[in-house]
Amino acid sequence: MDAFEYRDGQLYCEQVNLDDLTRQTGTPLYVYSRRTFEDHYDRIARAFVDLDPIICYSIKSCGNVHLCKLLANRGAGMDVVSGGELYRAQRAGAVMNKVVYAGVGKTDREICDAIEARIGWFNIESEAEFENTASIARRMGATASAALRVNPDVDPKTHDKTTTGKKESKFGVDIERARRFFERYGRDPHLKLRGIHLHIGSPVYTVEPYVEAITRALALIDDLAEQGHRVDTLDIGGGFGADYESAQSPLAADYAAQLVPLLKPFHDAGGRIILEPGRSIAANAGALLTRVQYIKLGGRKKFVIVDTGMHHLVRPTLYDAFHFIWPTSVAPMHQPATRAPKLDMPGLETCDIVGPICETGDYLAKERSLPPVTRGDLLCVFSAGAYGMVMASNYNAMPRPAEVLIEGSKATLIRRAETYEDLVAPEAEATAL
Ligand SMILES: *Cc1c(COP(=O)(O)O)cnc(C)c1O
Repeated sequence: MDAFEYRDGQLYCEQVNLDDLTRQTGTPLYVYSRRTFEDHYDRIARAFVDLDPIICYSIKSCGNVHLCKLLANRGAGMDVVSGGELYRAQRAGAVMNKVVYAGVGKTDREICDAIEARIGWFNIESEAEFENTASIARRMGATASAALRVNPDVDPKTHDKTTTGKKESKFGVDIERARRFFERYGRDPHLKLRGIHLHIGSPVYTVEPYVEAITRALALIDDLAEQGHRVDTLDIGGGFGADYESAQSPLAADYAAQLVPLLKPFHDAGGRIILEPGRSIAANAGALLTRVQYIKLGGRKKFVIVDTGMHHLVRPTLYDAFHFIWPTSVAPMHQPATRAPKLDMPGLETCDIVGPICETGDYLAKERSLPPVTRGDLLCVFSAGAYGMVMASNYNAMPRPAEVLIEGSKATLIRRAETYEDLVAPEAEATAL
């Protein structure tokens, strides 16, 4: 599933021993495998090749410019949700006409910048946003393309906080409203409404919700054609599952086996397909390394207190997300064969793995079985590449960790650790207004 592997009880990322690496860099540390990152992209590209899609990597999942550059060099487009992400896409050298821009709250400045950059598509979420974007384009004397985000009202059966495609969601419009939307705005000369955008939620661990959503979108596209509105782009969004546990998700090929035949007629009739994968590329390409600070016994509970927590990886407490956590250096009998919540091995202890932040919600795992660990041991939080560093904060005035890219036996610092100076730099001067 990725390039993080135990050899003789020692954890490696590609050819780099992670204990050795952290002796050089310190902890906490985000580490990424170039091979995994690129492999996961290539698998999606191969699986969907018959549709010749634009694969727009979702920058919000893991946005380091050096990582985005790797995908831009492979021909990926980018899915952005803010002016800041557009800036990252530009810095990564992404081809701007392969950029899609989603988000319910785009500001005038963000819209201007995106029109100036000549991005591929605005993914429009409401009537008010369409009108504002069209009027900005008119004032600039520009034309831009738009896709309407449609809520197909399917339940992707994922966490409430990451479900986006049900009727009562702040994202997009429902199918009835989409017909009226095209009637009203479908002939705007400055913002050309030519696409339908779907994004039903994430992670979605089965193919059926996509099949259902796409089937509804294709029927809508046929109806719109009868009304005289040609839709030439269908963006099916992201949300494809990543393996947080071993073999938990369908492979790119399994999604494609059902989706390619479904979309092939649209493609063959000249339609453009867009995909927006994020986590399925980034999640398993990254891990968070952390050192055990203290062991604390409290009643029947054992707490393993580490030097990272919700401030660097918020998914466990925000989404009840599971991340496999294991020491980087273990006895042969404790070398894990899978990444499951419960492993059947002798001598494991049940503990909560918690951080230093002054919040009860500051944990990485609860009631988790671990080999015995002591102060100074290094732990690996696996599958932390997506929605890890991008959601990290400075709460409790904690500097954010460094990021390192591994390529074979080479390690490169692609973001330095923040310093205390960085924390107060924007406050250096107080200015009268
Ligand atoms: C978050 C998001 C994605 C990516 O989701 P993943 O689960 O990371 O694949 C794609 N499209 C849109 C519109 C999103 O908001």
